[in-house]
Amino acid sequence: MADYNVIVIGAGPAGYVAAIRCAQLGMKTACIEKWTNDSGKQILGGTCLNVGCIPSKALLDSSHHYYFMKKHAAEHGILFDNLHADVAAMQKRKGEVVTALTQGIAGLFKKNKIDSVEGLAKLLPGKQIEITAYDGSKKTLSADNIIIATGSIPVTIPPAQVDNQYILDSTGALAIDAVPAKLGVIGAGAIGLELGSVWCRLGSQVTVLEALPDFLAVADRKIAAAAQKELKTQGLDIRLSAKVTGTEIKDGQVVVNYEDKNGAQQIIVNKLIVAVGRKPFSEGLGAAEIGIKINERGFIEVDANRQTAVPGIYAIGDVIGGPMLAHKGSEEGVMVAERLAGQKSEMHYDIMPWVIYTHPEVAWVGKTEQQLKAEGVEYNVGQFPFMASGRARAHGDTSGMIRLLADKKTDQILGVHIFGISASELLAEAVLAMECQASSEDLARTIHAHPTLAEAMHEAALGADGRMIHA
Ligand code: FAD
Ligand code: AMP
Repeated sequence: MADYNVIVIGAGPAGYVAAIRCAQLGMKTACIEKWTNDSGKQILGGTCLNVGCIPSKALLDSSHHYYFMKKHAAEHGILFDNLHADVAAMQKRKGEVVTALTQGIAGLFKKNKIDSVEGLAKLLPGKQIEITAYDGSKKTLSADNIIIATGSIPVTIPPAQVDNQYILDSTGALAIDAVPAKLGVIGAGAIGLELGSVWCRLGSQVTVLEALPDFLAVADRKIAAAAQKELKTQGLDIRLSAKVTGTEIKDGQVVVNYEDKNGAQQIIVNKLIVAVGRKPFSEGLGAAEIGIKINERGFIEVDANRQTAVPGIYAIGDVIGGPMLAHKGSEEGVMVAERLAGQKSEMHYDIMPWVIYTHPEVAWVGKTEQQLKAEGVEYNVGQFPFMASGRARAHGDTSGMIRLLADKKTDQILGVHIFGISASELLAEAVLAMECQASSEDLARTIHAHPTLAEAMHEAALGADGRMIHA
């Protein structure tokens, strides 16, 4: 008999959620996690809680409060002297937010009777796992089923070697201890824009270099254009078609060489953040050695059940590719756990919420207008500007709009795209509507409280039928 019904490898949002759901469904469950602090104490939560979603949002919130106070407090009649940012205090707060949440997962494991095993897991044949602990000791555990959730790490590029002193990856960028006068960012994806925003709001002169010619190429074109304009106003110097070719540390600064349409260019910055994407992590796992297939980009290959080429071994989260998002991994964890328990769980990858936590936020679900055009689908558009929202006016935060796309024939909602205050929270209504295959008429007939930002969603739904009230 195996030691466990299920062993999960990795306690990020994919792994810890899978472990909790397995335990809820009556399976004897363990979760192996190698992340420790300097004294060897295990830390749960993975990239998301420790060096990803949560610390970035903590710094985004702190820097937003500072920026808001500096730029807009007077409009609200709030006046003060000697406003300044204390980066050390912001970093301390960030650490406390992270610690509270990671310790919370330890509590959830205890509550659900999940054994949390510290160490690096290596797969052996026959669903055995060798675990090497921080102190070097080894032990072997076995399971009926194994779920791999080993996540991802930052992509590095040869022209900008990360030293985490001058040239930083996202983890280094979250730990900057003083506002750099000049900051460079390579990559205008979610991580680059969020980290660039943090330091820009705190006073850095930020230049973002993006190799692609279009800003946020995956987003709705009108939303991307509005976001680009607003971020420029806030001080982010975003240079498109700018491919970094080399860097050099000179006199305590980073010389960044790049090429654009006009040829060779250069910027000199105090620090440079490399935010060019993430790649799957399965180092030391021994997956290929036991027959698990890994594709040419390093992602573990899985079937519709998220089962690898080895029966009884599953994989979820960033390590299998698709959208590298915490909620995607968590839902895969739930799905695999429930399928192991004999349930017929499904998840709809085409109804995936995407958010970029700039201010205001960019958030979307479903198809973009350019995708619908390319697919030859006829659609109606409802577009409502936050300028016309009473609540957004009261906030003093009126940038952006909601764009709702509905099928011309059936009226089913095909996509919702938001650039505006609290877009991440507003998006949830659109995701639920699409999950329920709602029509724009369903949203238009739903009573929305006044005054709320959600009324903007109501208006966009009305707009798909040409009957907006307030615009
Ligand atoms: P991970 O969170 O990477 O966790 C994998 C875990 O497995 C790690 O703890 C690792 O130590 C452990 N592990 C690996 N190999 C072994 C082994 N052999 N033995 C034992 N343990 C092992 N996503 C969002 O949805 N929203 C956001 O706002 C967001 N912001 C982000 C901001 C930043 C700066 C970054 C870097 C990422 C952000 N992400 C965000 C992405 C998100 O963090 C990832 O998609 C998510 O963490 C993936 O979850 P995961 O469980 O698959 O992997
Ligand atoms: P994401 O994958 O969403 O995190 O975004 C990473 C961004 O980095 C993409 O938009 C890439 O086009 C961009 N990128 C990758 N390599 C380079 C490079 N050498 N110079 C500038 N931008 C880059």
